[in-house]
Amino acid sequence: MNKHLPYLVHECGANFSPQLSEHLGEPFFNLARKAIEGKKPVKTHKPNYQKLSIRGSSGTIYRLLYKGKEIGEISDVHLFREAYVGAIYNHFGKPYRVTAHAAGEVHLEDADPHFRTEGIFWTVTEGAEILSGIRYAENLAACYGRLTVSENFGGFKLIDSRSGVVLEEERSERERRSNVRGFWLELTDTSILGVSVLLHDLFGVEQLLRIGAPFVVPCDRHDLGTLTTVKNPTAVYLYETVPGGIGVAEKALEVWPKIIETAIGIAERCTCSHGCPSCLVPPRLPLGFKEPRKEPAIAIARRLFDIASTSARERFDPDSHVWVPI
Ligand SMILES: [Zn+2]
Repeated sequence: MNKHLPYLVHECGANFSPQLSEHLGEPFFNLARKAIEGKKPVKTHKPNYQKLSIRGSSGTIYRLLYKGKEIGEISDVHLFREAYVGAIYNHFGKPYRVTAHAAGEVHLEDADPHFRTEGIFWTVTEGAEILSGIRYAENLAACYGRLTVSENFGGFKLIDSRSGVVLEEERSERERRSNVRGFWLELTDTSILGVSVLLHDLFGVEQLLRIGAPFVVPCDRHDLGTLTTVKNPTAVYLYETVPGGIGVAEKALEVWPKIIETAIGIAERCTCSHGCPSCLVPPRLPLGFKEPRKEPAIAIARRLFDIASTSARERFDPDSHVWVPI
C-alpha cells in the first residue's frame, strides 16, 4: 500500500474526503490519511508513474486522458469492466464519461454527476485442467489447476440516478479471455449439501472463499476472481487474476477448509441480516440468479467443511488421471 501512496496524494491533492474511503477501502484510506497528516503535498511535480505497478493487471496499462491531459492510469482488467466506451467511470470520486479508446489511451470527458452506467457482464470458464486435487467421499472434489476464464461484455445502460430512467441502451459483444490458475470445489451430487438446498445459495460460497482467503493465505482479495457454475459440473471457482500465478490457488487446495471456516466466522459476525458483499454476496451474479441468502449459504459452507473434515479422502494422480485412496 505504501508504494501507492505518492500517487494517491498526487491524484487527490492530499484532500482525504470521506467519499475516498469508499473507493480505496478503509485500510488504505486510514493508512494514507495518517501518513500525510499535517504534511503538504508536492503540487508542481507528479510522482514517477513508471514505477507504479497496477494490481490485477495482466500487462497492458492505459493512460486516462481528460481534455488531453493525463489524470491517471488504468489496467486492462479495469478497462474492460469499468471504462468501456460509453461508461461513466469514477476516478477518485469524480465521474467521467469514456468517449473513446485509442492505443494505450482512454479518452474521458465530463459527466453529469447524476448519471451512472450499468454494464452487462458474464463470465464462463473453459478447459479446466486438474494439476492436483483431493476428493472427499467420492462426491466433493477440491482441485487446483489451469483454466481459461472468459469475461463477456454485452453492452450497457445509461441511467439517471435521480429518476431511474434509462437514457441510453447499447448492445455490444466483447470478450476478454485469460489463462489463469484456479482452485475449485466440484460437486458430482448436490444433494450432499442437504435436501432443501437452493443452488443460488451456493453463490454465497464463492464470496466466502474470496473474503476468507486473504486471512489464511497472504494475498489481496482484488487479485482473486470467483465464479460458480451450477451444472456440468456444479462448481465454485476461486481463481487468480494475476497472470503467471501467485500461488494462492495452489495453497487453497491445502487450506480451503480453514478458509471456509474463517469466512463462516466473518459472515456470522457481519451485522447484515440477509447477506452482503462484506460476507457472502458476490459482486457479480450470473444473469437471472438471485442473491444468495445468508443462513442457507452459511449452512452449505458448513456442510462442505464437515464433509472435508470427516470423509475418506482420495488424491488426484496426474499420471493416470485417476483418484487414488490416501
Ligand atoms: Zn454481511
